[in-house]
Amino acid sequence: MTTTPKSIAILGAGATGLSAAFHLERRGHRVRVFEATGRVGGSVRTELSDGWLIESGPNSLLAGEPALTRLIDELGLTGDVQQASPGAKNRYIVRGGKPVAAPVSPPAFLTSPLFSFGAKLRLFGDLFMGPRVRTSDISLHEFVRAHFGQELVDYGLNPFVGGVYAGNPLKLSARHSFPQLWEIEQQHGSIIRGQIATAKAKKATGAPKTGIFSLTRGLQMIPDALAARLASGAITLNARIEALVPGSPSVASAKEGKTWNLVWNDGTTAHTEQFDTVVSALPAPALAQLRFGTLGERPLAALDTIEHPPVASLFLGFRREQVAHPLDGFGVLMPELEKRSTLGILFSSSLFPGRAPEGYVALTVMAGGVRQPQIARLPADKLLSAVEQDLRELLGVSGAPVFQRHAFWPRAIPQYNLGYGAHLDAMAACERAHPGLFIGGQARDGIALPACLAAGEKLASRVCA
Ligand SMILES: Cc1cc2nc3c(=O)[nH]c(=O)nc-3n(C[C@H](O)[C@H](O)[C@H](O)COP(=O)(O)OP(=O)(O)OC[C@H]3O[C@@H](n4cnc5c(N)ncnc54)[C@H](O)[C@@H]3O)c2cc1C
Repeated sequence: MTTTPKSIAILGAGATGLSAAFHLERRGHRVRVFEATGRVGGSVRTELSDGWLIESGPNSLLAGEPALTRLIDELGLTGDVQQASPGAKNRYIVRGGKPVAAPVSPPAFLTSPLFSFGAKLRLFGDLFMGPRVRTSDISLHEFVRAHFGQELVDYGLNPFVGGVYAGNPLKLSARHSFPQLWEIEQQHGSIIRGQIATAKAKKATGAPKTGIFSLTRGLQMIPDALAARLASGAITLNARIEALVPGSPSVASAKEGKTWNLVWNDGTTAHTEQFDTVVSALPAPALAQLRFGTLGERPLAALDTIEHPPVASLFLGFRREQVAHPLDGFGVLMPELEKRSTLGILFSSSLFPGRAPEGYVALTVMAGGVRQPQIARLPADKLLSAVEQDLRELLGVSGAPVFQRHAFWPRAIPQYNLGYGAHLDAMAACERAHPGLFIGGQARDGIALPACLAAGEKLASRVCA
């Protein structure tokens, strides 16, 4: 707890901004969160309708980080945690036009029909690789191929990256998109040996088990709980941040520890308010637009070049008998080589209980991404027609859905592509040039929701350091 409370403006009420606000307020600071839209949560968006639970953005979280477990506990949500159903353990990948269960253990890998005998033999090459410090970044595709061979890239990495980043492994930076793998290679050489060592070390420290989870009323419970913990009036919705002007009119420089004038717009009127500190939890496109100082410079304008592919999410409800597949898994992912119209289909009602009314099932189709941005942009009816073939051929779906919800994310997920280091450097340089400004969130700290929640706590610690 600090003895000198600051007034802190937080830009953006997504997971990062709300987590930062929560942690800063607990340390005794006065926070104001400014959010451009009329709701909190950013990419997190859950709807409950007639017995269906629809996630339009993230669908699940990866457990394993003590900070996430702590946060869930502090928010009083532990009793609402839903672990992924044991019956949903399969992860299907399409090969040869059919969903094939991906191996989840080394013995299963040896017998899996997903990979050829040659690919299985090639995988063991990784075990003999020694620690390696690379002097320059390489693509994720090249990195994984060096360790495991081309077939693992085509039928392992490619569909996985389509599901997580909606991205292209040929463009993604190995160093920035999966920094843990990059570090494992430096320390252990072999990714397999490194993963085993990391898991053992985690177990020894008593870290929570990894696994997939959600919450009884969906992931929106997290931003809602964070927002509810803040002081009344701490969040201003429909407030678009336009500019940051360091120093009050009578003070020349924010460097001397003075204030920030924050200019925000409620849709009709511009307002200016003064704060000691500014914490940005904005996505890269918004950071790029942010004007600084009286001259309105945009020091982060280059962040606009970060690729953010569009993604469409189509939540579909069917009567159980309309779907022939047992839906005994997490979902099915599509390797690019298979030339399907979707990136993946989640078996939402198999994964977590309470996602569909009794006797019905829910599927969530993800489409678009770097691979097929034009499909993501289709209106809902055309999108449904475009993905019908995948639903029919892969899952034996017949007839029209009895329920549907369409969500379109025009700039869904920042791609940590080759060269991303320049963007990270630009954000660090902007902070150095503007003391009292702190930047974090999905553009800097990782794209997964747990990483963004952790980024909020990290931002709070940096402000209080
Ligand atoms: C379709 C989809 C599926 C996903 N699936 C998963 C998943 O299954 N698991 C997982 O871990 N992660 C997933 N993610 C990623 C994860 O949800 C996001 O990376 C994370 O929620 C980002 O949080 P954030 O607070 O950093 O940014 P955001 O959620 O983007 O929040 C930023 C906020 O800033 C606001 N804002 C923007 N400009 C301004 C401005 N000028 N002034 C004021 N406010 C502004 C926005 O309106 C928004 O509310 C998914 C993302 C998407 C889009």
